[in-house]
Order: sequence, then structure tokens, then C-alpha cells
Amino acid sequence: MGLLDGKNALIFGLANDKSIAWGITQALHREGAQIGISYAGETLKRRVVPLAEQIGCKWVEECDVTKDEHIAATAEKAAAHFGKIDVLVHSIAFAGREELTGPYYNTTREGFKNAMDISVFSFVALTKAFQPILNPGASLMCMTYYGSVKVAPHYNVMGVAKAALEATTRYLAYDLGPQKIRVNAISAGPIRTLAAAGVGGFRDMYKHFADMSPMRENITIEDVGNAAVFLASDLSARITGDVLYVDSGFNTVGVQMNPEAKSE
Ligand code: NAP
Repeated sequence: MGLLDGKNALIFGLANDKSIAWGITQALHREGAQIGISYAGETLKRRVVPLAEQIGCKWVEECDVTKDEHIAATAEKAAAHFGKIDVLVHSIAFAGREELTGPYYNTTREGFKNAMDISVFSFVALTKAFQPILNPGASLMCMTYYGSVKVAPHYNVMGVAKAALEATTRYLAYDLGPQKIRVNAISAGPIRTLAAAGVGGFRDMYKHFADMSPMRENITIEDVGNAAVFLASDLSARITGDVLYVDSGFNTVGVQMNPEAKSE
């Protein structure tokens, strides 16, 4: 018996086997969910199809979330294949490399709009498009990062986008609460992925995290996958509009000191 037996789950944002979306896909599959996967473009298809095959997923569709027609077509195809949906995972973000280094005030108008469109508005648009085929008790989730709350050097416009994504999570949770549909965010610690590689100074930040977090270790896509199972399952039936930290406790520490430093 899996925690997600009989549930249909759609994953947005799978790029490769390092993606957070892959950790989530594997965990939801392990718990018995039927999986549907969407990918962003033709070049990704080659990497995503073999991953889908590994978990027996037959529904793999292109969806560039900057295109309304892609989103509408994806919702239609999902309705035809699955009928109703129980879990929707938004694991998508984008900002130009030039926006993720140097001072935040250098963000361009175009860069700001793009980051907000792809990383935030897409969650609103997907929710609207899929809302008619969501089962009561359905769970929607998105991926955020602590740079939304405190400054993470170089994270810049993406930190601002994540703040908007977390606020979006609360507003969507309020809208869909009466239908017993829940909306939450997972705030993951740094993980080496394609998207993370674009953030200036990521390597140093990754190491600092392992040195300074209460648990003194980095997190994995499996950790995020297991948290996603909890949010997708009925175990979290009354949790909505929330941000669940999967970060070895990093966000709980106010003053970071080298743990080896002498106390006097
Ligand atoms: P990833 O594997 O690169 O995933 C990012 C995904 O977003 C890719 O599949 C990417 O597709 C997709 N995407 C970008 N533009 C898109 C568009 N127009 N339409 C549809 N999809 C699009 O990196 P990841 O680290 O797993 O990121 C997943 C989520 O976790 C993001 O929201 C990220 O901000 C968040 N997160 C990451 C970390 C971390 O340290 N890695 C920590 C906390 C939160 P393309 O490759 O085709 O662009």
C-alpha cells in the first residue's frame, strides 16, 4: 500500500536526473501515484522521455509555460488521459545568468518580467487551467528558496520572484480552500542542478550551507521528494498556504558562526 495509491500527479519542470522534479517524481511514483510529466522544449525531450520510461509514465507532453496555448493544450490532454488530477507539482524557475550576479539594482526590465513570468505567473496560470479537473482534496505545490526572505548574495531577482511565489501560494490556497484543494511551497536548501549552476557563487554557498546548517549537511532531491509525498498525501490534509522548509534547519539560525570557532 502506497500513500498515494489511486492518485494522478502531474510534474512540471523536469529537465534531467539532477532536477528536484526528478526526486519528487520518483518519490510520488514509489508511493503509488500515476505520473504525467511535462517538459519545456524539444531539446529536453531527449532527456525526459527515458526518465519517464523508468517509472512507466506514458504521458509526456511539451509545455512552455510562457505560452498560454501550451498551458491550455496541456490541461486538455491531461483531462483526456487522466480524467481528474490530484497532485500538481510546479518546479520551474528562470532568470538570465546576467541577473544572477552583481548588484540587484542592475536587473533589467526585461529580465525582471521574464523571471516573474516564468517563475511566478506560471504557477497562477497552471492553477487556473487545471482547476476544473482537480479533485477535491487535491494538492498543488511549488519550489521556493530562503532567498525570498533574507538576502542570498547574487540570488537577486530570483529572491524577489520567490517572495512573490510564496505570496502567490497563500493567495491560491485562499481561493481554492473552499474546494478542499491545498496549495503549499517547499523551501529547499541548495542542490546542484542546472538552474542552480546559473546563480553566481553557488559553489561557495553550497559549501557554506553544509558547514553552517544545524544538521551540518546538504540536502538531496530525495529529501525534497519525501516532503512532497507528505504534502501530496492525505497526511497533510489540513495544511495549506504554507512553506515547508527542507533545509537541514538552515533558516532557523540567526547568527552564523564557524562551528569550530572557540567560545572565548
Ligand atoms: P532544473 O532541473 O534546472 O529545473 C528547472 C526547470 O524549469 C527546468 O526543467 C526548466 O526547463 C524549467 N523551465 C524554465 N523555463 C521554463 C518554461 N518557459 N516553461 C517550462 N519550464 C521551464 O533546476 P531545479 O534546481 O530542480 O529547479 C526546480 C525548482 O526548484 C525551481 O523553482 C528552483 O528555483 C527551485 N529551487 C532550487 C534550489 C536549488 O538549489 N537547486 C533550491 C530551492 C528551490 P529548461 O531547462 O528547458 O529551461
